[in-house]
This record gives sequence, C-alpha cells and structure tokens, in this order.
Amino acid sequence: MKAKIAEIFQSIQGEGPYVGAKQVFIRFFECNMHCAWCDTPRSIGDTQGGFQEYTSDELWRKIADLWSNCHSVSLTGGEPLIQADFIKTFLPRLKAAWITSYLETNGIFYQELDWLIDDIDIIAMDIKLPSSTKCRPFWEEHKEFLEIARRKEVFTKVVISNDTTREDVLRSVDLVAEIDPEITYILQPNYFDYDKGVVQKCLEYQKDCASRLKNVRIVPQMHKFLELR
Ligand code: SF4
Repeated sequence: MKAKIAEIFQSIQGEGPYVGAKQVFIRFFECNMHCAWCDTPRSIGDTQGGFQEYTSDELWRKIADLWSNCHSVSLTGGEPLIQADFIKTFLPRLKAAWITSYLETNGIFYQELDWLIDDIDIIAMDIKLPSSTKCRPFWEEHKEFLEIARRKEVFTKVVISNDTTREDVLRSVDLVAEIDPEITYILQPNYFDYDKGVVQKCLEYQKDCASRLKNVRIVPQMHKFLELR
C-alpha cells in the first residue's frame, strides 16, 4: 500500500495551542473540500506539483531523516483521513517509537477517525463555517467527529474571514459547548483578510463565546508572520 503525499518537511507548528512546536509535517494529497481561502492549493490539486507515492518504509525513513528531536509528527493535508487505510497501517510505527502523532483535519470523516483514534495522540479539528468556506455545512458530521475526538486530546478551530457570519460562529460554539465547554476553541483570523477588519471581528466573537466556552483564544497563523512553511 502507498500513500499519496504532497510534501514532507520539518518546520514549526503555526496554528492553535501548539504554535511554535517543532514538527515533521506529512502533507497528504487530496481534500474533499474546496475552501474559499485554502492556503495549501497544491495539496488539493489546484496547482502544479501534485504528489509522490510513499510506502510505509519510505515514509518512515523520511521521518527519521527529518526528526531531530521534534515534538511530534503532524498528519496534515489536504485531508489526511481520505487516506485512512494507509494511516491505519502507519500509526503503530509512530506509537512503537514513542513519537507523538498530531492529526490536522477538517473534522468530517468521523467513521475513519473512530477506526484510527486509538493510535492518535492529539487532534486539531477544524469546524468549517459555511459562510467562511463557501462550501456546504457539515454540522452533523462535526458533531459526530467531536464526540469521538474527545476521547483523546482535541482542540477546535474556526477560520474567521471577511465573509464569516456571527450566526455560523455561534452555531459552532453551541456545537462544542454541548459536547464539552472545556474543549479549547480557537478563532483564527484569515491571513488574507487582515486589512478588512477580521481581527476586530475575532475580538467581538471572543466576547460572544466567553459565556459558553471556558477556553476561547485568538491565534493567528504564526508561520505566515515568520515566513516559514
Ligand atoms: S479543508 Fe483544508 S486543505 Fe481542504 S480545501 Fe479546506 S483549507 Fe484546503
């Protein structure tokens, strides 16, 4: 079995509560979505570059080359759970080597998560707001996903763009609060909309969320500021 992988590299985590942690990133190719502001167009096939195929042994050697005492291996994309069959066979290798696995996902494929979750350590789950993504809503899928994800360490993240509506933000807050108000909820201002007032929007939403959730943070994409991948 082989995985379709867009790129493998070492960098620091740029989003959420683990910002600054050194990681090996495995960027899986393909995504089921087409978010309006997607910042990894290569991984969803929108630009030249495509993917390379890796066997489990080839991927393991690549991680070993890049490891250098990283915090964890990030399985990112694209949407990594599209390749759940490969990941299911690969995660035990990470676990056996005491390497922390960090899944970055759009939070939709809950059946695949249920199948893999025993071997995953940390889950960075997006909640896709339809007013931001311009895609169809996935509220039911996100609810199922978070119910499963809470068995491990999980945090949620929403991207706030110029087009994001308060209604969508409050619906996502309700979704998280009804499952567990202690789950961390990150408001991430869309980097491409900084000159359109999205940071102010995030500050207002943080106030709106505070009565429902205990841990609401505004965290920008730090790798963009640092000009890192
Ligand atoms: S889910 Fe992520 S990778 Fe897929 S289109 Fe949206 S932003 Fe891009």
